[in-house]
Amino acid sequence: MKKKVSNFTGGIKGIRYCNRCCFPATMDDISFDKLGICKSCQSSEDKMSIDWKQREKKFRKLVDIAKKKSKSNYDCVLPISGGKDSFFQAHILVKKYGLKPLAVTFSHNWYTEVGVYNLHRCLEVFNLDHNQFTPARKLVNKLAKKSISAIGDSCWHCHSGVGAFPLQIATKFNIPLLVWGESVSENDGRGRYSSPKIKFDRDYFTKVSAKLTPNKMVDKNISKKDVQPFQLPSKEEINSKGVFGIHIGDYFFWDDERQVEFIKKEYGWKETKMEGTYKRYKSVECVMSGVHDYLCYLKRGFGRSTWQAAVDIRNGILSRDEAFNLIDHFDTEKPGALEYFLKTTGMSENDLIGIMRKKKHKLLKSIKLKIKINKKKKKEDFLPFYEKLIKKHLRS
Ligand SMILES: [Zn+2]
Repeated sequence: MKKKVSNFTGGIKGIRYCNRCCFPATMDDISFDKLGICKSCQSSEDKMSIDWKQREKKFRKLVDIAKKKSKSNYDCVLPISGGKDSFFQAHILVKKYGLKPLAVTFSHNWYTEVGVYNLHRCLEVFNLDHNQFTPARKLVNKLAKKSISAIGDSCWHCHSGVGAFPLQIATKFNIPLLVWGESVSENDGRGRYSSPKIKFDRDYFTKVSAKLTPNKMVDKNISKKDVQPFQLPSKEEINSKGVFGIHIGDYFFWDDERQVEFIKKEYGWKETKMEGTYKRYKSVECVMSGVHDYLCYLKRGFGRSTWQAAVDIRNGILSRDEAFNLIDHFDTEKPGALEYFLKTTGMSENDLIGIMRKKKHKLLKSIKLKIKINKKKKKEDFLPFYEKLIKKHLRS
């Protein structure tokens, strides 16, 4: 009798993956072509044939118009977290094109120490005026709790606030142009550089990440007043001010690795050890990124290292087998920040797991996901920096 040959090379057994990278069929809006290649892999091929010089010319035209129109006002709004993209955006806008942006930050109030350093280093090194909004601790905690049952993710307040606050500032300060970082065609799995499916508009962040409008978050514990900071300016307001946004990654060839090398060397940007991945440079400003990615794993069977390994495969840095080994090691680890999350939201781990079980992707329903526990993690590593700072001074 012939032995059945399995073509399974890694990942979760029973789940379809892109034949080139490691994106699974459980991703939002993923589709594969006849060869079983995902949209992001197709997009990474588009990237090679795009005339980037031509794209940069388009960018120059846009910023020239913005500069001309802005007169004595800021030339554009620059939404920043202090992450790697922030430095790259600021480098292009300030150093390369001589613009005067107004930097804006929606703080999720989960900043790490290195995140605070990076944000303030960015403001200093690019000499930026800055406007920041930080929701109150108790509000963050209750929105984070609601976020789990509402969207199966810990971070509604952040997804929503990073979209709303820069638009509020743009309309309030009459600065029509917003300049974002990475293109949605880079690694989102939904669109391609040659035919982007989603472009930036008023509802961009509601569509790509927040999923629910602020009014949908209102319940007996969350008031209309609570969600006011997350409300988007009206369509009429946006149209009357001519507010529009672009992603700098649609105009300049995007290469995470090279950009990180450059900003570290040139501007002193700092990376750090991250939960749930082998890379040290994505969402370094947030203590909760491990929880966010772990919830994605519980829901869809993949976390941060899947995203990053897929990019590395496309760039020839990792083989597919190496990628699946890293994914198996990192995506499956329970994050150290979970304890803080449970404590501050008042949820038990069983409550959380129960909700996530209901949110689990239908392709994963009968699959038991592997979960690893790392007992070496220290609790204090996962406290937001300002909480740590306050505790330290109260003790002294
Ligand atoms: Zn792929």
